[in-house]
Order: sequence, then structure tokens, then C-alpha cells
Amino acid sequence: MTVISGCNQGQGGDAPQATVNGSAVSYRGRGLTSRQDISVQVRLAEPGHGIVFAIGKGGAPVHVPARAEFVVHTLRNVVLGREGARLCIVEHFLAAASLWGLSDLLVAVDGPEMPLGDGSAAFWLELFEAAGWEKTSRPARIELSEPITCRKGDKLLIALPDDHFSVSYHIDWDHPAIGKRWQSWDASMDSQAVANARTFGSLNEHKLLGIENEVVSLTADGFSQPLRFPDEPVRHKLLDLIGDLALSGVNPLAFKARFVSIKAGHELDVEMASRLASLISAGQCGQSSI
Ligand SMILES: [Zn+2]
Repeated sequence: MTVISGCNQGQGGDAPQATVNGSAVSYRGRGLTSRQDISVQVRLAEPGHGIVFAIGKGGAPVHVPARAEFVVHTLRNVVLGREGARLCIVEHFLAAASLWGLSDLLVAVDGPEMPLGDGSAAFWLELFEAAGWEKTSRPARIELSEPITCRKGDKLLIALPDDHFSVSYHIDWDHPAIGKRWQSWDASMDSQAVANARTFGSLNEHKLLGIENEVVSLTADGFSQPLRFPDEPVRHKLLDLIGDLALSGVNPLAFKARFVSIKAGHELDVEMASRLASLISAGQCGQSSI
């Protein structure tokens, strides 16, 4: 077992703790809204298992697959639920798993949300690497026969058939430090270009939650902390999109598709994941045998 130092240096409160022993990765850190210390243990599972969260303390956790059909809430974050158990903010972890090429995991969580860490997904990648879990990047293999469109008001998310996986996002915030920006990512690029992008939100809201020193907040004309990228907010939107698409039940990087999002968020992302899952289960997505 190795204790990972330097992994996700949160500020204030108990320092996050991370350990690995090869077959399992453990992480303990603060939840964004519950402010509870939450422990997570991630284990590799057999092929075909999918990503399944085991929620709750004690001997009878509720098992909730990371699939769109178990999503109960999409306002600001994605919440999975089943039999009274709830788990908030699953998207950053799912993005990390997807970027590392992981599709089969059992994730035991003893609280109502995944720990936020620094608001990015990079700390999960550090843990996977420290555990010796090899990063895999197989060529995309699942074909779309036609475009898929999800739309609500001025928000739009489309999936277009392509030769490989890519995501593009257009952010349009009426804020002097964000404004209108496009950013894209594909599997030939460094995972850190999206995994390292932290979540962000309003300073007032973060003060109410008492987390203004831990995460990136928007001030009147900028940000409360130096950014890791000049366009970190739009990169984080790409991270959210990748994590949400994992709710299709397959690693989103397996789709031979170009996902283009215009101001969309978790609600449309989950709708897209649901439609992808339906097409796969109906046998309407071609699959090359790679
Ligand atoms: Zn996010």
C-alpha cells in the first residue's frame, strides 16, 4: 500500500488522503455540499461489469450502475439514485475513468456524494497511475448510423458520425473573464488538457457553502484563483461532457462520433447518454471488432 502525497492538496479542513495497493485505490476527501469526509474505494472489476457504485456504510450497500437510467437529478451535477440511496457529483470520476480507459469498476462510497477534490479529475488519474493501472486507449469502435440531436431552448448537443471520438464545447457566459469560447478535445490529445480543468461557480454560492478557498470562484471581473489554462472553464465543460457520456454504459471514447455541445449541460448530456444506450441495446450501432 502506498500513501500518495501531493495528490489533491485541498486547503482547510482535513487533508485528503489517498492510498493504492495495486488492485484497489482509496481516497478520502470532503464532499462539496455535505461537507462530510467521504471515503471511496475503487476496485477493478471483470470485463462486462461496467462501472457500478456501491453506496452506503456497513454491510449492505446499494449497488447503482453508472447508467443514465439511474440518474435522478441533473441540476448542476449528476445524481444517481436507487432504492433510497443517492450519490451526487459522479461526473468527474466517470470522466477520469473514461480518460484512463477504464470501463469495469466497483466503486464503494460511504457518503452521499463523490469527494470533490480540487474540482478537477486529475487527482483520480494520479491515483490510477500510482496503482499501476495501465492507461489504455483503444481505437473507437462504435459507429453511429445517423446524427443524434438533443435540444432544449438555446442549448444543443449533437452527435455526428465520425472516424474517431471527439468533443467540442461552446461556452457563452455573460462574464468578462469567460464570454464566448470554443474548445475541443480528442483522444490523440493529452488527457490532462481536460482532466486538469477544475469546476467553477459563483463566489457568493461558494461562500455559502464555505468552500471559497478550495475551489475556483467567479469574482466580478475574474477568478478567485489563478487558472491552470486561460480557458479552464470551457475545458471543464468538456470534462463534464465526457463524464456524463459514460452514463451510456460504455466508455464514451469508444464512440466513432463527434459530439458538439453548444451551452449544453448535464441534462442534455444525460439525455444523449440515454439515447446512445438505447441505440446500443437495440443493436442500432455498428461495432467494428477491435
Ligand atoms: Zn464538473
